[in-house]
Amino acid sequence: MSNDKLDIPQQFASPAVPALLTEDSVIRFQCYKGISCFNACCKHADVTLAPYDVLRLQKRLGMNSEEFLKKHTVPFQLDADGVPGIKLRTDNDGACLLLDGDNGCGVYEDRPTVCRYYPIALLNMREKDTYEAKQQYSLVQEDHCKGHDEAREITLRDYRKEQGVAEYDDFNRSWYELILKKKSGGPGVGKPNEMSLQLFFMASFNFDMLRRFVLSDNFKQSYNLPPETYAEVAEDDIALIKLGNRLMRQALFGEKTIPENSGAWEQRVESRKEIWEARSKAEVEARNAKAEADMRQETTGCSDN
Ligand code: SF4
Ligand code: SF4
Repeated sequence: MSNDKLDIPQQFASPAVPALLTEDSVIRFQCYKGISCFNACCKHADVTLAPYDVLRLQKRLGMNSEEFLKKHTVPFQLDADGVPGIKLRTDNDGACLLLDGDNGCGVYEDRPTVCRYYPIALLNMREKDTYEAKQQYSLVQEDHCKGHDEAREITLRDYRKEQGVAEYDDFNRSWYELILKKKSGGPGVGKPNEMSLQLFFMASFNFDMLRRFVLSDNFKQSYNLPPETYAEVAEDDIALIKLGNRLMRQALFGEKTIPENSGAWEQRVESRKEIWEARSKAEVEARNAKAEADMRQETTGCSDN
């Protein structure tokens, strides 16, 4: 096992007990409505979101991507190169905005991966010589969480089943691996340019914009995909996000799994030539007009204004 690790989803804000756990490990823990600390964790929420979390939450809340991102998330950087991540927005005291008063989580059936795992922190670690994410776990023990004082013992395997995390992990795995690869600096991985970072954000979190982008004429002129693929991504969110993953890999690591049309760049340049020429003509005219006005002012001491 290498030292490369990715602790996404992050645990709630507190140090994890460092010992690594496996699915066979047994923890003593139970959480239920009525426990003395009910909701205490959601009042100190530090929840990093992965793509499937965003998809589930925006559907649950009946929002489009832009509305959801604006209202319920805050940005942060996943690494020193500025790879963008998002967390759930909280109020000024740190309480999750999705908390429904004393009733508990207002989106319980669609709660994010971090909330499902808690008090377990999921650690995605890179196996030596591969970029596959191997899942490991550690236990988070915070003073406010009284679930650790309960008598129930449960294996992590059963706890994962109880919390329904497998679907989330399966869907997000490819994204975790992408970030691990970026962090581990594999071949051809450098600091991404601004355009790649924007593509990363769109393909990871802004699915409505990703769909518009993929179905645009510009995209179809640049990439050579069969009509069935476009029909599928127009309807199916999962297919759309999978294509987004391939696009990110193509932009960040040069993994060319989406065939590019030859001459696409030249075509785009040609189709925009007229606009560029008109724009530069207008700029030259504006510069000349200003120079003329300046000269007139210098010689006559007055301006046109
Ligand atoms: S999404 Fe739900 S479980 Fe997660 S922090 Fe917010 S209220 Fe708590
Ligand atoms: S037992 Fe822990 S996880 Fe459950 S409500 Fe209390 S603080 Fe939250």
